[in-house]
Formats: sequence, structure tokens, C-alpha cells
Amino acid sequence: MRQRLCILGSTGSIGTNTLDVAARHPDRFEVVALSAHSRVDDLLAQCRQWRPRWAAMSDVDAAQRLAVAVRAEGLPTEVLAGPQALVALAGHDDVDSVMAAVVGAAGLPACMAAARAGKRLLLANKEALVVGGAQFIAAVREGGAQLLPIDSEHSAIFQCLPEDRSTWAQRIDHIVLTASGGPFRQADPLSLRDVTPEQACAHPNWVMGRKISVDSATMMNKALEVIEARWLFDLAPSQVKVVIHPQSIIHSMVICRDQSVLAQLGTPDMRVPIAYGLSFPERIASGASALDFLGLKSLTFEAPERARFPGLFLAWEALEGPHGSTAVLNAANEEAVAAFLSRRLRFTDIHDVVARTLELEVPRLSLSLDVPVEALLALDEQARRRAREIIARLN
Ligand code: NDP
Ligand code: MG
Repeated sequence: MRQRLCILGSTGSIGTNTLDVAARHPDRFEVVALSAHSRVDDLLAQCRQWRPRWAAMSDVDAAQRLAVAVRAEGLPTEVLAGPQALVALAGHDDVDSVMAAVVGAAGLPACMAAARAGKRLLLANKEALVVGGAQFIAAVREGGAQLLPIDSEHSAIFQCLPEDRSTWAQRIDHIVLTASGGPFRQADPLSLRDVTPEQACAHPNWVMGRKISVDSATMMNKALEVIEARWLFDLAPSQVKVVIHPQSIIHSMVICRDQSVLAQLGTPDMRVPIAYGLSFPERIASGASALDFLGLKSLTFEAPERARFPGLFLAWEALEGPHGSTAVLNAANEEAVAAFLSRRLRFTDIHDVVARTLELEVPRLSLSLDVPVEALLALDEQARRRAREIIARLN
């Protein structure tokens, strides 16, 4: 039986890389559902190529336009509309695996649905785990889902660990997430004030969506990944450490109790962690090129400086703070990055918006495990309003 795939966020960077891997293995994978937000032409092109049973668009107007085009071309695809459509597909009986590659907290409801329905859940959408935290993990456990990390660092850690999760706590002393340092690793911090979206999105090693590219430039991406790792591997915040490794060859490391260091290496290509998530526990061809050891001049490491990357350090503060703090951090960052990308906020003000939103008195949740996802999303919305007020005052 082929694995029936639902790819949420199929028109994005992770989504298209997932389809690239799936296309190499038509005997293993059947693409049954695709989703996008508003890019109708991109999703239509994917429907022509993949002829999925369903295509969903979270933007209702866009879904209507897609439905008209799909009908006109006689494609066999049923078009679904609105954010609830993603939730329905993620939990559908005729879906085996869900690639969660929506960007932002908007992906949380569908991730929760896939977790509760016991799917094989390939998680690229780190923001969903940063917002969902304990609730997300509880839903995975209760639903009997298989949570497979797609973020390259977390896939690296996962690849260094045995399949039997019950042994992880005993063997891990701590983990080290590697970070490239992004495009401004060596820039004078004073020169960052006038950085443009184009400069911030020009990542030296990875080609990614615009939001995560800006997060890489501020290193807020690594802050989100610290929080993500805390939940994925059930670690104390102090067991998650970060080192800058500009070559992006070592994707992360596990430091064992006996001080043995296990690392996963490879060319920086997201198709490797995607292929591993798709095929786990087996290995399949990913399309990535082989690592050229002799072409590697050196592998170097640096400590991240607080003066240059203050956003990174908010991760541990939020994890040690009141419940709900990581959801507030994520919401403020999403708003600040959106404002920066639409040239309403300076690059260097992104961190201020996040830090100041975190300081404000947002009523925090008493996060018992039965807090519904709606409460998390309400906190997310409240933090966004605060962040937008701060952004407006900075202008
Ligand atoms: P992109 O911006 O390239 O793609 C995002 C996808 O989500 C698109 O299909 C987009 O549709 C859809 N989308 C956007 N907003 C919404 C919404 N509100 N509701 C539903 N769907 C929406 O992002 P990436 O592929 O770069 O990243 C996706 C996720 O994977 C992020 O969480 C990111 O942090 C994570 N990730 C990405 C990596 C990478 O290499 N790109 C590496 C590691 C993690 P449309 O095209 O219509 O706008
Ligand atoms: Mg990553």
C-alpha cells in the first residue's frame, strides 16, 4: 500500500521540496491532498501535475477561484475552502501522513487534528509546536500519532538517537543546535538599522520562505528551534544549547552522558530531512548531492553574541517564564516580521517588539493539559494586538 500524503503548505519551500522527494518514489507515495493560502496559480499547477483528491485554500476567495479553474480544466480534484478545510484533511481517514508545512501559528489547528487522529505527522511548522507546547505533545501521545521532525537540526538530533524513545532521557546529557548565523553574522550591529527585506532574505546556505529567512537573520529562528527541541525531545531548557557553525554541514549534535558526541552531517538541502521523515525508519533517495569531504576547507564554530543576536536569548527566558510565554514570543515575532517585510518596521526593531510584548501583562494561561487549542489561539491573538500597538508606536 502506498503512503497517502496530505501536504499542508504545498506551494511553499518545504511543500515543493516534499513533492520533489515524493516524485522520486511514485511506488511509495500517493499525494491525496494539497493546500495553500492564496497563491491560486501555484496550487493549480500542482493539481494539474499531481491530480490530488483534494486541494484546500485557507483564503476563501482564492479557493473559489481555484474551484472555477479546476472545474474548467476537468481535473478530478475537490476544492475545499477556509482554515477548517486544513483541519478536516489533516484528520481524514483516507490520509496516512501529514506534512505540516504551513508557516506560522496558523498551522496549529491542523497539526492538532493530525496529532489527535494518530497520523504520521511530519512537522516542519515549528511555530505550531512553540505555541502548542505541552498541549501539542499531549495530543500526539493521546492520539497515538508518530511525530517526525523535519526541521534540519531536529531531524539531525532524531537521526542520532535510537528508535526507542524510552532510552533518550537516560542517554542525553544535552544537545547542541547548530546555526549558520545568517547573512549578518559578521556585520557591524550598528549597520543593521537600514537592512532591507531583500538583504535579510538572502541566506548564505539555505533557500527558504521569507518569514523563516528573516528569522534566520535575527536568529529568532534558532530561538524557536530551542523551544521546539525542548518539546520534541522532552529536555530541560538548560539541556538545549546553540553554537554558530557558518558552513551548515553539521546539522546538530547530541552530547551523551559519557561525553561522546553524535552528529549528523550533510549538504544543506531540506530534501534530506524530508526524505527521512517520509521513509523513517528506512532511508530513500532524496535528490541531495553527496557531501564533498575533500572540498570542505574547515568546519568552524563560534558562540552567538548577545549584542548581535539578542532574540536568541529570549528562548530560554520564555521557557522559564509563565506558561504561555512562548506563544506570546511567537505571536510578537510573526507580527514584527510581517511588519518588517512590508517595510513598516526596521530590522533592528524586530527584537524590541518581541521583548516588549513579552514584558507586557498578557494574562497567561494556567496551562493544564486540558486547555483547549482555542485558548492558545486566543492568547496568540491577544499578543498580536499588543505587538501591533507597539509597532504602531515605533512608526
Ligand atoms: P513558505 O512561506 O515558503 O510557504 C508557506 C506555505 O504555507 C505556503 O504553501 C503558503 O501558501 C501557506 N500558508 C501561508 N500562510 C498560511 C495560512 N495563514 N494558512 C494556511 N496556509 C498558509 O514557508 P516555508 O516552506 O519556508 O516554511 C514552512 C514551515 O516550515 C515554517 O514553519 C518554517 O519555519 C518551517 N521550516 C522551513 C524550512 C525551509 O527550509 N524553508 C526549514 C525548517 C523549517 P501560499 O503559497 O498560498 O502563500
Ligand atoms: Mg532549522
